Amino acid sequence: MFELRTDYLEDLTPEMAISVLKDVREAAGAEVPVIVTCRDGREGGAIDYPETLRIAVLLAALGAGAQFVDVEYANFVKPDVRHKIEVQLAWNATCRLVLSAHDFNGTFDDLDRLYREIRAAHPQAVPKLVYTARHINDCFAALDLLHGCEGDAIVLCMGEAGLISRLLARKLGGLVTFASLDEASGTAPGQVTIGQFKDLYRHDSIDAETELFGVIADPVGHSLSPVIHNACFAEQLMNRLYLPLLVQGGRDELFAFLDGLQARPWLAFRGFSITIPHKHSLLEYVRTQGGNVEPLAEQIGAANTLILGSPATSHESQPAAYNTDYAGALDAITAAMGITRDGFCDMSIAVVGAGGVSRALVAGFTDAGAQVTIYNRTVERAEQLAADFGCAHAGLDALASLDARLVVNCTSIGMHPDVDHSPVPQEVLKPDMAVFDTVYNPAETLLLKQARAAGAQTIDGIAMFVNQAMAQFHLFTGAPGNPTLMRQVVLDSLR
Ligand code: NAP
Repeated sequence: MFELRTDYLEDLTPEMAISVLKDVREAAGAEVPVIVTCRDGREGGAIDYPETLRIAVLLAALGAGAQFVDVEYANFVKPDVRHKIEVQLAWNATCRLVLSAHDFNGTFDDLDRLYREIRAAHPQAVPKLVYTARHINDCFAALDLLHGCEGDAIVLCMGEAGLISRLLARKLGGLVTFASLDEASGTAPGQVTIGQFKDLYRHDSIDAETELFGVIADPVGHSLSPVIHNACFAEQLMNRLYLPLLVQGGRDELFAFLDGLQARPWLAFRGFSITIPHKHSLLEYVRTQGGNVEPLAEQIGAANTLILGSPATSHESQPAAYNTDYAGALDAITAAMGITRDGFCDMSIAVVGAGGVSRALVAGFTDAGAQVTIYNRTVERAEQLAADFGCAHAGLDALASLDARLVVNCTSIGMHPDVDHSPVPQEVLKPDMAVFDTVYNPAETLLLKQARAAGAQTIDGIAMFVNQAMAQFHLFTGAPGNPTLMRQVVLDSLR
């Protein structure tokens, strides 16, 4: 289906609209439906054409056999507009009216009442209600309406926070959702491209039964999790979809979002990757729900995976939280070094950084009996982490005399665009060391380049990223993911 936005055409006339409609038909095939729209400037129209011209264009499109014409409900209720449209519709029985309402500033005062008014005004019309989500929690009203309404309807939320309403329209039976042809040609805030819809968000394979997963974060746009999980769902022909879920705010907003999802079992959200800034609040949420927190996640004080119950984990009726970061990192290291986790026992390990990832790795290393020293810019943070897990600590300057079997970078030093820096002085890197960098963009950081040049064994952050995603995929589905595909997808995305 195409939407022909005639309000974007300069020097518009009804004849021009018919001519472009004809061109679209010839290019796309007569069987491809076309919605003809000439949007009022007050509701987002590109060029603010007068009402007489806009209505003349729509009447001409109706007469030329457009399958749909979109009229703003606020204009349709004017008796003269309504009369003209209804007379022309009577002559073109195959054309359907779309009665639309838009709010570019926020939510409608009463979405359900507006929907009922539009239905009552012209029962054969397709109601189209589009408002702006300032927060993802604003989308629930749109999802509820689409889920509950009978007959064709279009209900969408604009803005980045409204993305799920666009991506889930098909699952919930919405007549259409809107995509742009490319990044530059969007006609409303928050639209994704047709390519992303089809390739990344698996639009053609979504139906009412599709189970949902997603990454909860703020910001979320940079996350590679949707590409890798959706690639694996597609490869295994699973009726599952993984979404970016922008949850802004803190604990209260996260709790409201998760409560909202749990109150709507028909959405079929089953599992989540959780990252900045919600990793700590997740534990509290799961505890308040009487759910299970994996013991090491409890010790780390953060979880990155939430399961709400799926075929893979049907024994869990309550939410469950896990931390796959530490296991992902440890498995990447043990696989590369050819050891089991027992091999960490008494190993001297230098961990650079004292943030969230560092905490997860230090918990894993000390759990396996390693001798860990934590180096950090803010020495007090290193001291606190060292005290929690019984390790040694020092400032970054002490790295000048570093001597360890395994060196791990858990800082963002070396991450794009800071690619010319390394947290570890080149001189201390030796052939008998293994060096692991959690940074995965770029895949080979300066630290890893210099370690390789020194003859040390190197392990990149993509290995950790893929491993933690593999562990999540297993928790989500009960099936193994494809690490080769995941790694390739990450490399392609970084390129
Ligand atoms: P975090 O909690 O914000 O901690 C950041 C750490 O980096 C702190 O120790 C901080 O030191 C240090 N740091 C930041 N900028 C620095 C600078 N300019 N000079 C010296 N130290 C600096 O972040 P996180 O969640 O632990 O993430 C750390 C890194 O892990 C990320 O940058 C990311 O590349 C990587 N990561 C990888 C994966 C994966 O799957 N491969 C997953 C998640 C994260 P202070 O305490 O002094 O501020």
